[in-house]
Parts: sequence; C-alpha cells; structure tokens
Amino acid sequence: MEWLSAISRILVVVAAGAALGWYLGDPVVGAAVASLLVLLFWSRQIWRIEKWLRDSSQPPPDVYGIWGDIVARIYKQQREASVSRERLQSTVDYLLESFAAMRDGVVIVETGGGIRWCNDAAQSLLALRYPDDIGQAITNLVREPEFSQYFNANAYAEPLVFATAGAVNRHLQVVITQFAEGDTLLFIRDVTDRVRTEQMRRDFVGNVSHELRTPLTVITGYLGTLLTDPSKLPAAYVRAMEQMQGQAVRMENLLKDLLWLSRIETTQGQKKHEQVDVAALLDELQDEVSSTYPERRLELDLQCTTRVRGDYRELYSAISNLVYNALKYSADDTVVRASWSRSGSQCRLDVQDQGIGIDAAHFPRLTERFYRVDDSRSSATGGTGLGLAIVKHVAAAHGAELKIDSKLGQGSTFSLLFPVTVQC
Ligand code: ADP
Repeated sequence: MEWLSAISRILVVVAAGAALGWYLGDPVVGAAVASLLVLLFWSRQIWRIEKWLRDSSQPPPDVYGIWGDIVARIYKQQREASVSRERLQSTVDYLLESFAAMRDGVVIVETGGGIRWCNDAAQSLLALRYPDDIGQAITNLVREPEFSQYFNANAYAEPLVFATAGAVNRHLQVVITQFAEGDTLLFIRDVTDRVRTEQMRRDFVGNVSHELRTPLTVITGYLGTLLTDPSKLPAAYVRAMEQMQGQAVRMENLLKDLLWLSRIETTQGQKKHEQVDVAALLDELQDEVSSTYPERRLELDLQCTTRVRGDYRELYSAISNLVYNALKYSADDTVVRASWSRSGSQCRLDVQDQGIGIDAAHFPRLTERFYRVDDSRSSATGGTGLGLAIVKHVAAAHGAELKIDSKLGQGSTFSLLFPVTVQC
C-alpha cells in the first residue's frame, strides 16, 4: 500500500513540524510550515514528472516515494507499448513488402473510393502513380466503364475481366475483397494470354464448323435427292445410304449447335436490349412442340407477365433445349410442364418432367460440352451433347442462374432464375 505509507510519511513530517513549533512556542505555525514544505516537495515532483511526460524520449526523472512508483509503472507501460508497436509495424512492413513483391497488382482502396496504397505491379498494370495518387478516387484513374460499374456495384462474388484502353491493349482480371469497415483490396492479374487463347479456340471451332458446313450441305443434298425414290437404287445401297443420311443430319445438327454456341460466347459480354416476353416465347414453343412431337404434351403455367432484357433467339434456344431434353428423357405418356413465375425479387422459369432423372453426382459436369450421363441413351435420342452448354452460356449472358434439381428415376426440374436487374 504505497499511498498509505506516503500519507503516514506526510503525517510524520506535519507532526514533527507541530512538535518543533510547540518547542518554539506555536505548534500550529510549525504544522503549517511543515505542510507547506510537503506541498512544495510534491509540487516539484509533479512538475518533473509532467516535464518528462511532455518529452518521453528523456530518461525518467529521479523522483521519490509514491511518485517514483508511479513513474516506474508509466515507464514500464511505455516500454511495453513501444515493443508491441514495433512488432505490429514490422508485421505491417512484412505484409506490405510481400504485397509489393507480388507479380499481381494489389491496391488498397479506402471507404470513400480513394487509393491508400498500391504495389509496383498495380502501377504498371493500371497506370497508377504511387505515392502521387494517394487519396485519388480509383474510378477516376481507371476509367474503363466496366471497371467503374463493377467497382460501384458492390457485388464482388465473380471476378471481372476487362480490356484496357491504353496504348498496350491488355485484358485484366480484378478480384475485389472487402475488409475492415468498407475498405477494399483489389487484386489485378494480366490475363491477356488466357483471353487470346480462349478467343483463338473459339475462332477455330467457329471457323471449322463453318467450313465443314458447306461440304456437308452438298452431301446431305445429294443423299436427299438420291433417296427420294429408293426403288431406283440398287437394293444393297439403300440401307447404307439411309444410315449415311441419318449421320449426316446428326453432323449438321452438331455443327449448327457448335456455331450457335460460338456465337453466344462471342457476344456474351455485349449488352442485350430486347424486351423478351417469356410467356409469349413459351406459347410459341408450345406450338412448335405440338407440331414436332404431336404425341407429346407441353403444359404451360404462366403466373406472371414479366419481361426480361435480353436476346430473344438466345433465350428461345436455351428454353427450347430444356424443353426438348425434358421430352427426350421422359416417357411418351408423361407430361412436361414449363412455368414462368415470380419468387421474391426473382423471376423463374421451371421446366419439369417426370422422366428418368439424373443422379446428383453428375450435376457439376452436366453443362460441360459433350458431357452425357448415359452415352447410349443420348445417342439414341439424337442429342448433340451441347444443349446444356448452350443453356449455361445463355444464362450467364443474361445474368441468370441455372439450377438443376433431379432424382434418379423420379424426374428433373431445370430452372433459370432471372435477377431483378434484367426484368422490365
Ligand atoms: P444431349 O444433347 O445429350 O441431350 P445436353 O447437353 O442437352 O446433351 O444434356 C447433357 C446430358 O444431361 C444428357 O446427355 C442427359 O444425359 C442429361 N439430361 C439433360 N436433361 C435431362 C433431363 N431432363 N432428364 C434426364 N437427363 C437429362
């Protein structure tokens, strides 16, 4: 109890002063003088401590009693605080150094959109200048509209790939992570090579499909003419030629789907302006189904009239792929139902069948090109293996989500969920 011994020391001094005063004739004056001396002593201690606190780079003052104790404790806390500050600073320096050494660009952006820090790679990829650009709004410096839209939309689940407009035409991928209270961390990667390779692959598939189409049209044309009157052909050739015709038609369908897929991929990033009346589209599809499959029934359940902003032909091909799959993979005496409804802020298209269903293990790969659950069954139904890949790309191009719900032997429901942003 430091303060108790400090008070007892004061009392001893005041009592000694009173005793000396009593000896000299007035104990009160003696006690008062002693108190004054104590006060002066304390004031001097406080003054020295206060002076040290103002400039704590100086060593702590030599003060006595309880003041010495207080100074020792403050000094200890200061040392501890400075050690942890140094440790923290070295961690921050280490992290910044590792960010700075990254080949990917890193930018830290504060809540208001101002740049706080960026590494060398970010400076060269985004043409930023550090430290000159500290505090500048990132959207003022990176002026590509896709980037501003993405940055301001605050929805960073998917990365953005955009082309830079500068002297060097690059494709950059941006991944944004939010941290602290509204600050953001941007990772920027140069994906130009990947985008170019992807473009080359797309062009190659598109060109090959296009080039193969002409000779195939000639072959199917001749086969069609020759088979109009099979009685004129040697009997041994008829079956072989019919098979050739069947395979040629299958190949034509395959090329048609490949070309269509490559067109959808090429235009995926472009804005779509048509207001598509999904209910009317389903009506048109119902007519088509009743003429192609007169024995089958497509039931419609149109619960809303909402239109979506998009491309009519693309949406028609996606929805018809879902409907034809439902018809292909279910028995003739079952019903296929297509519904257009609203659930919360989303609009949804569901295509439901009571067919063979799909084991959940296949779901992740179903939308891959040429992926088939059962090869023999699919070739028997004449599918190209591209239907769901087309659906996936059309969905992505329209900001929609493709959902698959199916149980083996109990039928399937394929759904397209359209966000509020594309409804009109
Ligand atoms: P395909 O031309 O072979 O039908 P898709 O890409 O349209 O190709 O479909 C991929 C595979 O998914 C199909 O081969 C089939 O096995 C399965 N599938 C698609 N839709 C259904 C469905 N409604 N019911 C059962 N299986 C389906």
